[in-house]
Formats: sequence, structure tokens, C-alpha cells
Amino acid sequence: MSADSPGQKQGFRSMFANALRPKKSRQTLRKGSRSTTDLRLAARPSVDEPPPMPDLAPLQAHREKYKQMHANVDTQLGERRDYTTIIHSLGLLDPDDGYGPAGENNEHREPGEGDIMKLPPRLWARIAWYLNPADAASLAIATITLYRRLGPRYFLALDATQNYEHKLEFLIRIDQSLPHHLLCFPCARYHRRTQEGQERIKPSHVINPLFNCANAYNALNPPPRHRITQGRMLPFSFVQLVMRSRRFGPKYGIPAEDMGRRWQRDGWSFSSRFHIHDGRLLMKVTSQTFAAPDLPPSSQRLLLFSRDDYWPYFSACAHWRDGELMPACKCALGHIPSPRQTGGLQGVEHKVKDRWKGQHFDPNSLTTLCGFCRPMRRCPECPTEYLIEVKLSEDRSDPRSVMFKQAIVVTRWTDLGDGTSPHVPEWGAINGLRDDYDAFHHPHYAKRGIASIFEAAFTADALPGQRVISLNPQKKKLGEKGNSWY
Ligand SMILES: [Zn+2]
Ligand SMILES: [Zn+2]
Ligand SMILES: [Zn+2]
Repeated sequence: MSADSPGQKQGFRSMFANALRPKKSRQTLRKGSRSTTDLRLAARPSVDEPPPMPDLAPLQAHREKYKQMHANVDTQLGERRDYTTIIHSLGLLDPDDGYGPAGENNEHREPGEGDIMKLPPRLWARIAWYLNPADAASLAIATITLYRRLGPRYFLALDATQNYEHKLEFLIRIDQSLPHHLLCFPCARYHRRTQEGQERIKPSHVINPLFNCANAYNALNPPPRHRITQGRMLPFSFVQLVMRSRRFGPKYGIPAEDMGRRWQRDGWSFSSRFHIHDGRLLMKVTSQTFAAPDLPPSSQRLLLFSRDDYWPYFSACAHWRDGELMPACKCALGHIPSPRQTGGLQGVEHKVKDRWKGQHFDPNSLTTLCGFCRPMRRCPECPTEYLIEVKLSEDRSDPRSVMFKQAIVVTRWTDLGDGTSPHVPEWGAINGLRDDYDAFHHPHYAKRGIASIFEAAFTADALPGQRVISLNPQKKKLGEKGNSWY
């Protein structure tokens, strides 16, 4: 190739063009064979000699040409004067012409300290003045040069009581730089994790601090937590740990799989399971207890409500008193069939067992629920769904005799939020701390239910299409004053 050929300047591109060109030896072979068989082809030398590879790909060539043709740029402002050009150039931008921070992933990027120093401290102070306290502090912490220009005053400002929210906002941003610490919301400061990597959810009566905190037992400023069931709390710190571990890496917290628990209390058995979907932590709690048929209302209440705080024994969101959750549970209890005294026994094994133990058991008595208590219910005010079922379950309370009994099972699926702060909409809504969450129109769950997302993650076949209806169709909010809950 001659020194003045255009390919020489293109370097790599010309190398590729040469590599893709057929070999000389092959060309001669083809020439020979074609000239004898097809004279028309032989007459066209362009077929034998493929056109030289263009130096530029067609789109690139178009871009170059367009740049030259429409260099209609304002010399003073550097802006394009022609709107058509602006719109057209948007389509021609390279996919990597992103508007992200310049050279964010460029290790060999020139340090910008010099540019920062070019601006006087007064100008930096002016820039910081336009920012909210969290952003101003973030700017001051960005580099040592900026810190020298801006000074510590933006950090001191965060300590003011009225800037509590801004302080949290700032602290949440530096989460990734503190794997051994955990942000404490009542104190608005990071505490050293005292059980690093060994953090486990324990029953409420077990003292289980994850860090040493002055506000740990301050009833006026309690750490944020969510009631799973009676005697079981989910401190927000665990949501933080799970989500940090997913976001930044295992050393930042604990995996979601380690959070699941099984426990028993007051004749109920519970199991909890956690799953991360789309950057938010979902929780499923299954609560079940054996229920006798034909219970009078007073016994139904005894079965469903804890005498300690008159909350249901099963896991529920803050809005359980309003709407149809409790009436639906009572309705489901009403469907439990009475065992038949004689006949209908099927299966030799059951027959022998039952005769042996002198019991009557009717394996056919599968309970069918009605249109009121069977559908999946969604709380309209928070991301929580409930399913009430009556199932035949094995009672292992007496190891000498295994019995099958009807049990009421209440399953709850809840979104706990992204774990950055207890002020996120999901966490606030399930705890009844905010009333601006509309579960039926929220973009996360407008199309697909929480239960459906959760179950699809664990079972190959997703939950059969269930009708999801509102837990509180009339949206009456009476709370404790309402009379249908009890
Ligand atoms: Zn603290
Ligand atoms: Zn029913
Ligand atoms: Zn709710």
C-alpha cells in the first residue's frame, strides 16, 4: 500500500478491509473458472474484483457528511441554530454518547482538581448556596479540594434539628462506603455493627441489638419496626441489611434467604419467607391454626384474636380493622364441615387407623369457600395481599397419634420497600404511617399482584389466575371504632 493512500490514515479500519478482501490466490482461481463458464460475468470485472471496503461504515459516513453539511452553529453560544438539525442529530448520536457523568468509568481520567481550583471559593460557596443542605454536604465531600474550598459548615448545618431529613438523605448516600456500619434512624448516625454477618431475626422478648445505640430503649424515639405477628417484630435494620447485601455485596448485610423463619405460638404456627423483586423486599407470612367446625362467634374470636393486644394472631397490615378481612375469616370458619359420624370412609389405611384410634375421619370433606371469603384480597391502602384458605392438615401435637384436622390458613404477602429509609412509601403504608398509598393504582402492583410475583419466584408454575378484590371496597375508615372487625 502506498504511503499516500487514504487507508493508511485509517490504521485499523484499513487492516480490517484488507483482511476481509478475498485472497489473491482465490481471486485467480475464480477468474479462471468463471471466464470459461460464464462469459457475461467475466465481462464485468467488478464482480471478480469486489469493490474496495469503504473507509467508513455507511451510518458513520452519513454522520460525517451531515456534520460537515450542517455546521450551522452559533459562533458565540455554540448552539445549533436549526431545530431540524438538533432533532436529526439526536438520532445520529452514538449509543455511547450518553449524558451520564463524564468519564465516570474512565480510570485514566484526568483529575479535575485543577478545574475546581480555577473557580474562587466564593463562587463555590455561591453554587452550594443554591443546593439543599444534603446536596451541599455531598458537594463538599466530593473531593478534598472541594472540601478545602467549601469548609465544614455544610456538615455542621446538617446537625440542625430542622435538617434531620436532609441529614438522613446525606447519610443514606454514603451507605456504600460503610460496610461495617448500619444507619440508625432515631440517632441519624451510623453505628458499628456488633454482630456483623451473624444478624438473625429473633422473637421480640430476646434482646438482640445489632449495634450499640443510645436510643435503643427510648420509647419516645423507638427504632422503626414492623409487627409481623404477636411477639414477632421485624426491625427496619434487617430490611436495610438484606437490601444492602443485594445492592453492594455480601459483606454489607445478610441474604434474603436467611431471613425466613418458622415458629409457633398460642396454637398457631407461622412461617415467613423473603424475596427481593425489582429492588424491593417482599415478605410472605403464612399463619395457620386448627379450627373446629360450627364454632359460635365467641369461639371464633377466641381463635382469631390475641388476648394481649386484640390484634389477630395471623400476620396483618395496619389496616386490618377496616374492611372485610375479619368478616372473611369468620365466613371461612363457617364453611368447615362437621365430620360425619358414619359411612363415607375411604382408603383402607385411614379406615384401619381410625378404627384403631376410635376416630371418625372423613377424607372427602374438602372445604369449599364461598365468593366472599375465597378471593385474594388486597389492602387498598398498603402493598399487602391476603388469601384465606381452609385446609386439611396433619396435627403432630401428639406424637402417638397423627390426625388430620381442618385448619384455617391466612397467607399475607407484603412489600417492605427498598430498605433505604423507613420513610419510603411502602414501609410507611404497611405501618399505617401514611395514607397516600393507593395499592390498586400504584404502578408497581396495578397490573400484577404481590402474591403472584412472589409465588412465581419460588414455583415453576405461577399461582393460578386469582381474582384480587379490595379488602375494603367501601373504603370506610373507622379503625377501632368500627364494629365489624370484632
Ligand atoms: Zn442509634
Ligand atoms: Zn365464605
Ligand atoms: Zn394495609
